[in-house]
Amino acid sequence: MSDSHRGSCLCGAVRFSTRGALRGVVYCHCSQCRKQSGHFYAATNVADANIVVEGAESITWYEASVFARRGFCKACGSLLFWKPRDQDYISIMAGSFDRPTDLQGECHIFVGDKGDYYSIDDGLPQFEKSTPAIPVAE
Ligand SMILES: [Zn+2]
Ligand SMILES: [Zn+2]
Repeated sequence: MSDSHRGSCLCGAVRFSTRGALRGVVYCHCSQCRKQSGHFYAATNVADANIVVEGAESITWYEASVFARRGFCKACGSLLFWKPRDQDYISIMAGSFDRPTDLQGECHIFVGDKGDYYSIDDGLPQFEKSTPAIPVAE
């Protein structure tokens, strides 16, 4: 079904599949996402109950803040997940999905912390920090 999606890290050690509609892609320009990714995050999310992960033993979880940890493949380094501690959903890097993703851009957050070497000109809403609808670690 079109509401099922698959994805993986670059080396394939970590694979996942999701059920249900994916949230629109949120682009996070905060300093943590900037430093970890080398640019910015582009992530969708699903409820914990709607994702199955294979190769979870190959994920390194970095406790980036008291709010959330960041999961990446320990073999190839691919960024994969952002997991808030007290919430029942998981953010997934949009680029880790196999195509077609059916994903569309939603908005930009933490644009106040963005890198100073690019501009955002796709017409999507921009927020200086987060928005109430999108929990993001400071
Ligand atoms: Zn990998
Ligand atoms: Zn961020």
